[in-house]
Amino acid sequence: MLGAGQASFRGQQIFEALYRHRIENLDAISTLPRNLRSQLEAEGWSVGMPRISQKFVSSDGTIRYLVELADGETVETVWMPEGDDGESGDGTEAGDESESGATANRFTRATICVSSQVGCAVNCRFCLTALLGVKRNLEAGEIVGQVAVVLRDRQVEPPIQRVNLVFMGMGEPFLNYENFMKAARLLVEGVGIPESRMTVSTAGIVPRIYDFGAEPVRPKLAISLNGSNDELRAAVMPLNRKWNLSDLMEAARKFPLRARERLTFEYVLLAGVNDSPAQARELRELVRGVRAKVNLIALNPGAELPYQTPEKQSVLEFQEILVRAGVPAFVRKPRGRDIYAACGQLKRTIDIAPAPAVP
Ligand code: SAH
Repeated sequence: MLGAGQASFRGQQIFEALYRHRIENLDAISTLPRNLRSQLEAEGWSVGMPRISQKFVSSDGTIRYLVELADGETVETVWMPEGDDGESGDGTEAGDESESGATANRFTRATICVSSQVGCAVNCRFCLTALLGVKRNLEAGEIVGQVAVVLRDRQVEPPIQRVNLVFMGMGEPFLNYENFMKAARLLVEGVGIPESRMTVSTAGIVPRIYDFGAEPVRPKLAISLNGSNDELRAAVMPLNRKWNLSDLMEAARKFPLRARERLTFEYVLLAGVNDSPAQARELRELVRGVRAKVNLIALNPGAELPYQTPEKQSVLEFQEILVRAGVPAFVRKPRGRDIYAACGQLKRTIDIAPAPAVP
């Protein structure tokens, strides 16, 4: 705005209109004088949001959105009313919230799972998104745009409260690091969601974990382990050949945590592969001494995946071994499995079994 010969507060007005009020076009920014709006349009400026092209509603209330970007590419974004317990025990306000805290609001708390890339380049063997390969990185605006369209669709108005964000949708956020960080800052400063309500999950891009630890404004960190030793982890996450467990755990141990903050380790349980009591004990030793909790995720199945979901009993035994050793361990609730909205199931909608569509 200064460059256009305008007062700097005009820039602030546009920023607020975009992020706080989620306006759709320049002409709707009523705080700007009419002639300035038409001047900006004449100069070729435009604003906008991604479009919700499809919406699938699960029996558990989870909604999976197919979000279309300006160039026609699509990503998936998931709304989980009441969350999936992923925040449990991470030492923050969001993690301490109980579901019984219901008030007059339509939801006590909700979590939005956000994508960072179209597809993914990290070839995890248990994840359906991996089958897509990576098409492109999302821009910061496209990452924020997913949150904006979902908030609007759910009629969540500012001040936005009890909404958590997890960057755990399609893609590897740390392979799109700059855009992801810019989006996180815009979400804090623009949309008004505190960084303590955001968690980014990485498959283990070790150099970016160090960069992330040095950021002045940053979400919480989750690391996908999924194997209790190098051989096992490399078999399910080929990326382990580039950054192995000792590199990864060193980065985790050195990660500068805030007061009360805990790291999260995610561990997807694959029946007969990484879910035995011996592997639970190995995992317990691996994470010993790190201020962390473990989120256990029983595999969300996919027809193309070479793995099976473990029985409930073995998940609970695995959890018990960690808990008895003083490692906080939580079992994540699968959300929206019936509409392919759960972890690892985000794949281009047209490629999957039909789910009940809502216009
Ligand atoms: N690329 C990032 C974020 C996306 S994956 C990462 O790898 O962490 C988010 C989480 O879903 C990861 O912990 C991943 O291990 C888990 N996940 C992937 N496929 C899954 C599946 N089929 N069932 C359960 N969890 C899965």
